[in-house]
Amino acid sequence: MAMQAMVLEKPGEALRETVLDEPAPAAGQVAIRVQACGVCRTDLHIVDGELSEPKLPLIPGHQVVGTVEEAGEGAERFAIGDRVGVPWLGWADGECAYCRSARENLCARARFTGYQLDGGYAERMVADERFCFPIPEGYPDLQAAPLLCAGLIGYRSLRLVGEGERLGLYGFGASAHIICQVAVHQGRKVFALTREGDTDAQELARELGAEWAGAVGDPEARELDGAIVFAPVGSLVPEALRALARGGTVVCAGIHMSDIPAFPYQILWGERTLRSVANLTRRDGEEFLALAPRVPVRTQVQSYALADANHALDELRGGRVRGAAVLTVGAAAQAAP
Ligand SMILES: [Zn+2]
Ligand SMILES: [Zn+2]
Repeated sequence: MAMQAMVLEKPGEALRETVLDEPAPAAGQVAIRVQACGVCRTDLHIVDGELSEPKLPLIPGHQVVGTVEEAGEGAERFAIGDRVGVPWLGWADGECAYCRSARENLCARARFTGYQLDGGYAERMVADERFCFPIPEGYPDLQAAPLLCAGLIGYRSLRLVGEGERLGLYGFGASAHIICQVAVHQGRKVFALTREGDTDAQELARELGAEWAGAVGDPEARELDGAIVFAPVGSLVPEALRALARGGTVVCAGIHMSDIPAFPYQILWGERTLRSVANLTRRDGEEFLALAPRVPVRTQVQSYALADANHALDELRGGRVRGAAVLTVGAAAQAAP
């Protein structure tokens, strides 16, 4: 059987619409009929060549929602027809010190969906069943897709930023719009910091329960207990440290960031912490997907047809997506407005 896929042949070039043979599941894998695939900023970093080790040619996409249609040898975790999600972490060796201490997100041999493994910008994909998640009921495919990276890695960032009440979110895109809802549900005060003049994102933040929304650098957002930097802009790091109360933490949530400018030790002094968050663990996924329906997290999505993936990436690059961008594939494409 043939399938439609959007393929990266060379970083820096647009994805090419291609017809490929459908992949067959190897041992331990399931084959998934893709219904929706979220478009992540990381996809942009891969397509633009800022993440430099993709397999080529590559099918990007690591926020995949679909149904299991075939199981490889020994794959018994899911039944045919189950709705599953495929996240960024697609495989880890299970043997190293990190894996054995439930930190498979740090495994040096880890392989990532839509980077070293073909992802969900296609009608069908295969995935290691151990790294797939059941999708909570009550989420349509389109709305579930952004939970799988924007939600899940955002949730890991929220966990690692600590439990302080005053939380700053730098950049208000797909991840922040989800994590804002979780943080408000936890009783925190959210300060959403965006580019000057990005009133759309600021308005969305207020709609989702943020205490305050405004431009980066505004003196209203001070004495924060924690801050998560979602935007891939290194100059936001000293900015966020300056806005932090003593003992607070800045978490950098993205996989790529422009260089961080030098800053005076004084803004780190006072037991402030600066850290990154890398990838996700299966525990993060299980916890977050159990929590999301209880909040309940409502994702706002802009949908694009699979063949329009390049357009979706351009919109994300230009900051023109409200909430999260999602590709509709197969049956979901017919159902989408
Ligand atoms: Zn490992
Ligand atoms: Zn992602």
